[in-house]
Amino acid sequence: MRSRRLFLAILVVGGGALFAQLKELKPGFNFFSTQQDIQLGQEAKAQVEKTMPVIQDRRITDYLTQIGQMLARSPHAGQWPFSFSTIYDKNINAFALPGGPIFINTATIAAADNEAQLAGVMAHEMSHIVLRHGTHQASKAQFIQLPAMIAGAALGNGILGALGRLGINIGANSVLLKYSRDAEAQADYNGAEIMADVGYNPVEMARFFEKLESKGSEGQIAQFLSDHPSPGNRVKAVEEEIQYLPKKTYRDTITGKFQGVQTYVQRLKPPKNYKPPAQNQNPPPGA
Ligand SMILES: [Zn+2]
Repeated sequence: MRSRRLFLAILVVGGGALFAQLKELKPGFNFFSTQQDIQLGQEAKAQVEKTMPVIQDRRITDYLTQIGQMLARSPHAGQWPFSFSTIYDKNINAFALPGGPIFINTATIAAADNEAQLAGVMAHEMSHIVLRHGTHQASKAQFIQLPAMIAGAALGNGILGALGRLGINIGANSVLLKYSRDAEAQADYNGAEIMADVGYNPVEMARFFEKLESKGSEGQIAQFLSDHPSPGNRVKAVEEEIQYLPKKTYRDTITGKFQGVQTYVQRLKPPKNYKPPAQNQNPPPGA
């Protein structure tokens, strides 16, 4: 009996030491329920679809969904109803709404060096949803009014409209979409875990973000860098994290479809409702 207890103690201590440096990140405090995250995200998604050139293209949607479904099976992706949509835009950007919807600009697909980089953007955005960064930030910003507002929204008025009365929307510099450096570091960390679970090389995510950062914060990538401020030395951070992840051979591609879809996206004609950004009445989220 005694030796068995000792054996168990060694197992616990040994296991603890082995994974001592691997963090399991959890969401911060939040006035919203997870169900309200999902409801808010659906309301906001409907608004994005009305105001932005979201493209309905089977080939692109199927491809993103295939990658997204693999990533969503990771235990680090939680239980969220993810969806992956594409916006026709020559600016590199991607954003996540609370509770599941993710939007990826066509320019992001065009700019990635390989599938793992695109999957990295997706895993990073999924991590903002899993860690509930948007509603966490809104909870921090509206500490006084939000609890009463949420009680009112539960009666069926819609959350997005109620948030709008507090000055929170999904437009310019929204607190729901513009993250802190801490949140960025967390999304990289959790995103790397998701990628590793699937078999994508997590370093590719960091490489893609550093590639964007090296171009400076003007023009084509200004919005992305404004919404996702650099936590600094992303490649090094992921390389350190990988030492504590289960050892496996990582890949830069899994589906074998990346090149074909990327070429297809690069040649895509603008959708009928596309307006060049300068004339667009509705600035993109975070713009
Ligand atoms: Zn981010």
